[in-house]
Amino acid sequence: MAQLSDDCFAFGGPMMSVDEAVGIITSRVTAVKDVETVALSEVDGRVLAHDIAAPLPLPPFTNSAVDGYAVRASDLPQSQERMLPVAGRVQAGAPASPAQAGHAVRIFTGAPMPEGADTVFMQEDVRIDESGQVVLPAGLKPGANVRPAGEDIPKGHVALKKGQRLRPQHVALAAAFGLTRLDVTRRIRVAVFSTGDELTSPGVSRAEAQLFDSNRFMLMAMLKRLGCEISDLGILRDERGALAEALREVASRHDLILTTGGVSTGEEDHVKAGVETVGRLVLWRMAIKPGRPVAMGIVAGTPFIGLPGNPVASFVTFVHVVRPTVLALSGAAAEHLLAMPVRAAFTYKKKIGRREYVRVSLRKADDGMLEAVKFPREGAGLLSSLVDTDGLVELPESMTKVEPGQSVGFIGYASLT
Ligand code: AMP
Ligand code: MG
Repeated sequence: MAQLSDDCFAFGGPMMSVDEAVGIITSRVTAVKDVETVALSEVDGRVLAHDIAAPLPLPPFTNSAVDGYAVRASDLPQSQERMLPVAGRVQAGAPASPAQAGHAVRIFTGAPMPEGADTVFMQEDVRIDESGQVVLPAGLKPGANVRPAGEDIPKGHVALKKGQRLRPQHVALAAAFGLTRLDVTRRIRVAVFSTGDELTSPGVSRAEAQLFDSNRFMLMAMLKRLGCEISDLGILRDERGALAEALREVASRHDLILTTGGVSTGEEDHVKAGVETVGRLVLWRMAIKPGRPVAMGIVAGTPFIGLPGNPVASFVTFVHVVRPTVLALSGAAAEHLLAMPVRAAFTYKKKIGRREYVRVSLRKADDGMLEAVKFPREGAGLLSSLVDTDGLVELPESMTKVEPGQSVGFIGYASLT
């Protein structure tokens, strides 16, 4: 387990900005140490444990980028066409003999360049004379249509960095290096609970005043996309003793404990008391909407995060608190969420000093620009507001209003995991 000090989430001020929260997490949460060696076909989504320097240049040998005729540029005048006899043929995957001076070599895409040849004419640009010679037009730049060895990546270059979350393109690069297995950090283990007497699980009978627990399944799905191993610990009743017991029980076996609900300051909010019985807890009052206090704590060296119960607040605070924590615990480099500029198609008033997120759908305007259309209602309990939109418009602390036509930053749901 990554042992953290009891006061690692301590914060001095009354209100915490999103950037301060992320800063505390990334500077104070330490990564798990364990490394696993995993087959290349299984590494997608995992976090690279070491730098990888290119064991060979890419491409590994100089080759033709097209089907055509390889020549020595020095055999050709620049200003007029030239006819050369064809001597030799080289296919992809076959070795090439050296090019003879004053001759062209028939060559195919990916085939090694014959020694001495340095330029390739595309077959579409040449003509074969009745005598069988190839007629080459004037004006082709020396070196054209050739992919020099190492032009993509030189040998020894650190091409994949420790902390990289591996995506398909990184897997492709490792394969191009001939690697079959990679060292990655082990998946972090996350215990997930919901809290609340009003909750019941899908598949279990629901009493009149109960609702099915949706947050736990949302959070588990988000954690899974971040590569976590998850223990689904169900629903805890609003009762301090039971909460404390459950937390004590799971802390030693997990790298992170995540709960939802029960962290506001109502008298039925028992998570705070439960955590304080077995560990340390601070409430982060974040200057973020939607969002409410997020409880941050340490139970036996294991970080604890208590998210609000309202589904949209839970979703947004997951993105800004849980996501960076999971990345830091996994040894992944911090990934800042990049908001892409789109045009607002709505009016909105906001409070200065607070980061606000507006649920929006994107549409293409008549001039081709992307426009963000605000979901018509704002309640933090509306699951439909997440389902029927494409992402969040991020409004910085300094802003007080949005007018139609204004440029705003958009973060798509697809980029959040
Ligand atoms: P709380 O943060 O416990 O005060 O809950 C705030 C609101 O979110 C209440 O209306 C809860 O019923 C609702 N809520 C809490 N937990 C969940 C959950 N796991 N799934 C869906 N809604 C929840
Ligand atoms: Mg509750």
